[in-house]
Amino acid sequence: MKMPAFRRLVFLLPICLLTACASIPRVDRSLSSPDQSSRVKYLVLHYTVTDTPRSIHIFTGHSQGQASIHYLLTDAEQPVIHGIVDESRAAYHAGSDSGWKNDRQLNLTSIGIEIVNAGWVDGPNGRTWAPFPEKQIDTLIPLVKDIMARHHIAPEHVLGHSDIAPQRKQDPGALFLEAPCGGRPGAVAGRSRRGKPTHSIRGRTARPCLVPAQIGAAWLRRPAGR
Ligand SMILES: [Zn+2]
Repeated sequence: MKMPAFRRLVFLLPICLLTACASIPRVDRSLSSPDQSSRVKYLVLHYTVTDTPRSIHIFTGHSQGQASIHYLLTDAEQPVIHGIVDESRAAYHAGSDSGWKNDRQLNLTSIGIEIVNAGWVDGPNGRTWAPFPEKQIDTLIPLVKDIMARHHIAPEHVLGHSDIAPQRKQDPGALFLEAPCGGRPGAVAGRSRRGKPTHSIRGRTARPCLVPAQIGAAWLRRPAGR
């Protein structure tokens, strides 16, 4: 049965007064200024050092430490970009000791992307780094470019975690700079015809992507381990 409009108002008014309805100020949004910018100045790339289920567990607030991220990129056959924290809000990915040039506490001024990747293991033959699947990098690059464009992030402000916390962090790691993307199945493993190195990922060869070049960035520091 439909309640008449007047009775509905009488019924709702006390509830509204008891809750926040009455205290929300009305803001006129019809005015604007061109003199403003995004609070986002940096884009920081990470690897997770674990698999996708564990990464989701960690970055959705189920781990001991306080860690969160704007985007989590999986390593599935068809990689998924999970948007976990809204870009308008700070995520806790950079660390309180993070810094770049004169800026500190980069959680407040950055967007973070965690890439699912196992990181490295030390063995008898030295350190081995986990490769990045080609499709993962092919998915990452448009995401990076889109974020850069929307927030007017300068190419030199696309950084690795190892750039902004060099004492503690190695990510996104030694193989990231030359991760494969846009694979050419006919390429020769080891060296391309022009003499450039190629990678073999899951039985398929691909040219090195040179991720910084793809996004127009001159990487300022090479990730630790090179
Ligand atoms: Zn990191």
